[in-house]
Amino acid sequence: MHELSIANRLVEIALEVAENEGAEAIEGVTVRIGALSCVHNRALAFSFDLVTKDTPLEGAELRIIDVPVKVFCVACDREVELPGIQRFRCPLCDTPSGDIRQGRELEIESIEIRDADKATAEP
Ligand SMILES: [Zn+2]
Repeated sequence: MHELSIANRLVEIALEVAENEGAEAIEGVTVRIGALSCVHNRALAFSFDLVTKDTPLEGAELRIIDVPVKVFCVACDREVELPGIQRFRCPLCDTPSGDIRQGRELEIESIEIRDADKATAEP
């Protein structure tokens, strides 16, 4: 399962951050997932719960920010957001575009840790 290895990687990064920050515990991890990253949110959330068991991340909340696909439309001379991933055409003028500018993200946005003086840490 693809999501399980992603969840494992997220946990590794979060634990590193927690250690560097001297955190007692991690309360939540927020990730940005692009529509083209082929990650199923529910499968990822399930995997996250699984791999955080018996770690300082147990019980931490996984928040997922869905990132829509944006392509550059030559005709409109701007980036446009696609309503889905079935058609790579500008929703404004219907010009085909494969120039993907956003939507492949798979990254940690923030990690919420619990300690005395800091609430949030950037990875
Ligand atoms: Zn266009």
